[in-house]
Amino acid sequence: MLDFALPGTLKVIVYPPTWKQAADKEKYFPINDADGYLSDPDKSSTLNFVMVDCYNDGTIPAANVLQSLAADTTVVICLSSTNDHAMPSVRRMFVELQEQKVQNPVVVIVDSNWQTTDEHLIHYATEAGALLLDGFGDGVCFGMTGKSYEQASSASSDTSGRNYLSNTSVEQFVNATAFSILQATRTRISKTEYISCPSCGRTLFDLQETTAKIRSVTHHLKGVKIAIMGCIVNGPGEMADADFGYVGSGVGKITLYKGKEVVKRNVESEVAVEELINILKENGAWVEPV
Ligand code: SF4
Repeated sequence: MLDFALPGTLKVIVYPPTWKQAADKEKYFPINDADGYLSDPDKSSTLNFVMVDCYNDGTIPAANVLQSLAADTTVVICLSSTNDHAMPSVRRMFVELQEQKVQNPVVVIVDSNWQTTDEHLIHYATEAGALLLDGFGDGVCFGMTGKSYEQASSASSDTSGRNYLSNTSVEQFVNATAFSILQATRTRISKTEYISCPSCGRTLFDLQETTAKIRSVTHHLKGVKIAIMGCIVNGPGEMADADFGYVGSGVGKITLYKGKEVVKRNVESEVAVEELINILKENGAWVEPV
């Protein structure tokens, strides 16, 4: 049990023996496997998380099991798979849930057994992101196997130069990755969105430095899409559905957009970020950072 007050709306998911001891049943919710859940008479009246391992042995849960879960609106189904082909196995289960008209919310659980940050990122993105992109799943739960967690906690790099975590905890890394994948798949928008061109011979300013500068002053604007494009030739056409645009239009000159519409043309680059903030303010997209 946690020995400190939970901030905001945070809640805790625990295994049934711990949940049964929890005094505040509005803050703690149980997670169980399907058999354990269905046979346990002691359930939360609000939320019950039920884990289903998809096709680990090549079979699907019996139809009556899925229908029993579907009949209980407090159930959140948590799908994972120990099958060698985990993501297709979970996808197959989503199809099964659709065919059986199961409407409960579904969380995709992914554990990573890899070592480096890049390997973890690719694993989470392919195992969960691919499903979310297809509209499967309402949330994610990411973790690491014991070996990976230990390695990530203790090392920042190895002699071959492969990157492990540095300057951040495993929990912060996993949390940030989950929010990034939810944002990238448009499942949950929790931060500012940046669209930037890859840069090329036409680029008229230091794209990375400028993007970092804009990011540092706008990263708190949840849901606002800002495009930073290297040139006026192709930039405006490549800004997709950005809300605001910062586009190089000459040496030391920036043109600022609201959507596809030019708002200020050929602004001196030294003051362009301040002008961008002014445009955000004029259009009600600015909030003061906390
Ligand atoms: S927007 Fe312009 S600078 Fe950026 S990649 Fe395209 S052509 Fe190059």
